Amino acid sequence: MDFYITILGCSAALPTATRQCSSQVVNIDGYNLLIDCGEGTQNQIRRYRIKLQSMSDIFISHLHGDHFFGLPGLLSSMHLCGRTEPVNIYAPKGIRKILTHLFNASGAKLSFELVYHEIETQEPILLLENKKCKVFTFPLVHSVPTYGFLIEEQPSLPNLKSGVRKTYNLSPADILKIKIGEGYTTEEGRFIPSSALTKPARPPKKYAYCCDTLFDESFIPHIKDVDLLCFDCTFDSSLTYIANDKLHGTSVSAAMAAKAANAKQLLLTHFSARYNDVDSLVDEAKTIFPNTLAAYDGMRIKLGL
Ligand SMILES: [Zn+2]
Repeated sequence: MDFYITILGCSAALPTATRQCSSQVVNIDGYNLLIDCGEGTQNQIRRYRIKLQSMSDIFISHLHGDHFFGLPGLLSSMHLCGRTEPVNIYAPKGIRKILTHLFNASGAKLSFELVYHEIETQEPILLLENKKCKVFTFPLVHSVPTYGFLIEEQPSLPNLKSGVRKTYNLSPADILKIKIGEGYTTEEGRFIPSSALTKPARPPKKYAYCCDTLFDESFIPHIKDVDLLCFDCTFDSSLTYIANDKLHGTSVSAAMAAKAANAKQLLLTHFSARYNDVDSLVDEAKTIFPNTLAAYDGMRIKLGL
């Protein structure tokens, strides 16, 4: 099962010539969901050849403009392109009022339903579960209510033990029954339980998105052992005093979060426009957490390699 992230924007509040504001598409075995929708997101969706109508579930971390000002434009384009399927919007409380007012004021009547799932929680909660994944949310530490997201793929079916297929001359239908736990009955009428014929599949892959936020121990248990952690890296460590004042992450705090969470890999994002290139931020993070990468617009990163 493929699980990868496409970065549409990795700039902080100000876009630059090479970085747009926050947005990314998570793809799990062909299912797309959108996380954050900064200004220009729909242009990036076009640029990186993602199907405009493929995203029925949109997750917004918080109601600062660089994370959701692209939403009205994206939804309007979906309407203009004839969408009829509903779009689910998972966002902090207040999003319904903002979008309702905006569309009413402009006289727009969308051709599809917007289904609001307003988030207001102090505890981690399950927001969505479908055949491909579960999406959990949990509070971060920023200047307005802000939420992180944990996306966990659904477990795969177990694998057959080696030699089993040949020994019993299994058909594809037999194999499916065994994998879903129904066992197998031999030609002689002997029943063999699935547990004797299978070995567990690999653990489900997990991706966490924490932006914008300070590093704080409170949310580390919710992102434990993720395959990839995407974390706010607005500043380098020499500007920690500004990061603390504005409640943002730094290269060092992002690396500390990845280490504390026992993540397999760290992806830095949300870079201040003051950085033309972010190599020095990656180098700083690597001193604490070696398996660190910097996001860039158009990056496609696969989990679990
Ligand atoms: Zn931001």
